[in-house]
Parts: sequence; structure tokens; C-alpha cells
Amino acid sequence: MKLLSVIVPCYNEEENVRDFYDELCKNTDFFHEKQIEFEILYVDDGSKDQTVSEVKKLHKEDGRVRLISFSRNFGKEAAIYAGLQKCRGDLAVLMDADLQDPPSLLPEMYSYIEQGYDSVATRRVTRKGEPVIRSFFARMFYRLMNRISRTEIVDGARDYRLMTRPVVDAILSMSEYNRFTKGIFGWVGYDTKWLEYENVERKKGETKWSFWKLFLYSLEGIMAFSTVPLTIASVAGVLFCLLAFIMIIVTIVRKLLFGDPTSGWPSLVCIIMMVSGVQLFCMGIVGQYLSKTYMEVKRRPIYLVREEIGGQELEE
Ligand code: UDP
Ligand code: MG
Repeated sequence: MKLLSVIVPCYNEEENVRDFYDELCKNTDFFHEKQIEFEILYVDDGSKDQTVSEVKKLHKEDGRVRLISFSRNFGKEAAIYAGLQKCRGDLAVLMDADLQDPPSLLPEMYSYIEQGYDSVATRRVTRKGEPVIRSFFARMFYRLMNRISRTEIVDGARDYRLMTRPVVDAILSMSEYNRFTKGIFGWVGYDTKWLEYENVERKKGETKWSFWKLFLYSLEGIMAFSTVPLTIASVAGVLFCLLAFIMIIVTIVRKLLFGDPTSGWPSLVCIIMMVSGVQLFCMGIVGQYLSKTYMEVKRRPIYLVREEIGGQELEE
């Protein structure tokens, strides 16, 4: 018997917990035929609504349902890490609670694992139902990211992924604090099959991502998987030195040939303003990396568990 762990990060998903379970169960026949057991691991990321009690209710009805509840909201990345750490499956799959990751794809995904792939990832090819500006910036982000980072990050990639144990262990071995999961998946490599599907809109409740949050998240991604911004800062410094040097020469030559004292402090003020702007910008870039390093060096735990239910029976 093989075990498949379904990991579901939940943050304020009380309306979706049961729907997800029902929908998943509709798609498990295929796996029973293949002699594959399920465990469903809800990772409650510090929800403020009834998510936890909904999961507990499910656990009473079905022992395969497990719950890990965080002491506060640590973010989806932390929830994914916790789920992978606590799951015991030979296979693990990450799925959103809002049914944006259709369970009906699971049999097809599994068929590729049988063919020998180490992981099966999904990407959505459309962004139907999403604000136009968001799609535009998302596209820009992926284009930029793939230019400046050697880690491949696929446009439209979702976290919906079926993985074999070696891949799970590889991801767990990356114990960094600033977790950008999309990059981590790309970084570990392995044979990955990509499946494409049309965007499915969230069933109930609201997305946890505002435009601003996504923007900050994209910066995190860039900093976690590229040091090109630091190079840009150094290159800008060199360019400005060169420019200054040329201007010095021009000024001296002009004075010697034409005896023409450089006039106009407005231009001077503009130059000073601009150069100090660039300086601050570059310092900011360095500061961002420094702050990431600072957080990393502190070695704080990625998440804290308040409560854990289910899954003990197999541990003995
Ligand atoms: N989520 C989480 N912690 C958070 C934010 C979100 O565990 O801080 C979960 C959420 O419950 C959902 C999944 O991550 O299952 C995806 O979130 P959401 O649907 O809001 O994102 P979107 O699909 O809009 O990208
Ligand atoms: Mg969603």
C-alpha cells in the first residue's frame, strides 16, 4: 500500500474546508484501484474563523483527515513547509483549499508519476477572472525574473504539485527562512512534467492577496533567487563615476580654452539631487539583502504549531 498525502494550506477557509473534502473524495476511486491510501493534511495558518473546528469535525468523521494548526498566521509558504515536514506519504500533493486546484486532475498527474517523472506540476494558461492590471504585472514579473535569475520560474505556475518522496525531502532540505516556493521548486530540479489547465475561479471566500501584497511578494522572490539587483547597484556606481570624470575634463578644458567659468547652480542642484537619489536607491538595494541575511541568520523557526490532530496511529 502506498500513501498519498494531500496538503491543504488554509487561512480563513471555513466555507471551503468541507467542500474541498467532498470534491476530493469524488476523485479517489482511481487511487483505490491503484492501492493508494490517502491522508488529508489541513494546515491551518492561524485562521481567525471556524476553519479549525470545521477540520476537527471532519477528523471525527474520517480518521484520514489531519490538522496542524499554527500559533498565528505565518503565510502560505510556511504552511507548505509544515505540511511537507509532517506528511508521511510516499507521494505528496499541494492543493489550495479554495478548489482552484481541481482534484479531477489528480489521476492524470499520477499517471505521469507512474511513467517515471519525479514530480508533476501545473500551470494555468489563462488568467480569466483576474484584474487586468494584475495579470499584466504578473507577466512582467515572470519575464524579469527569468532574465535575472538562473532558477527557472514558470509563468502561471501554481503550487499544485504532485511529488515523490525524494522531491519532498529535497524541498525540506532547503530550510531557509525567506521561502519563495515557486523558486524553490525550480531550484531543486528533478524530472518535472508540466500540465496546463484553464484558470478556475475561487469557489467561496476571498483571495488573501491584494495587489500591494503581491508586489512585495514579487520583490521577495527576486531577492531570494537573484543577486542581479546588487550588480545593478555596482554598475550604476561605476557609470556615475565615469560620467563625473567626463564632466570634470569637459569643465577644465572649457575653462582653459574659452576662459568661461561654469555658470548656473540650478543644474548643479539637479545633478546633486539625482546622484544622491541613485545613491540612496543603491543603498536601499544593499539594505534589502542585508535585512534578508539578518532574518536568515536569526534562525527563527519557520512556523510554530499550537495544535496537531490525527496521524498518531501510524507513528507507533
Ligand atoms: N493561504 C495560507 N496562508 C496565507 C494566505 C493564504 O495558508 O497567509 C492559503 C489559502 O487558504 C489558500 C491558498 O493559500 O488555500 C491560496 O490562497 P488564495 O486563494 O488567497 O490565493 P490565490 O489563489 O488568490 O493566489
Ligand atoms: Mg485561490
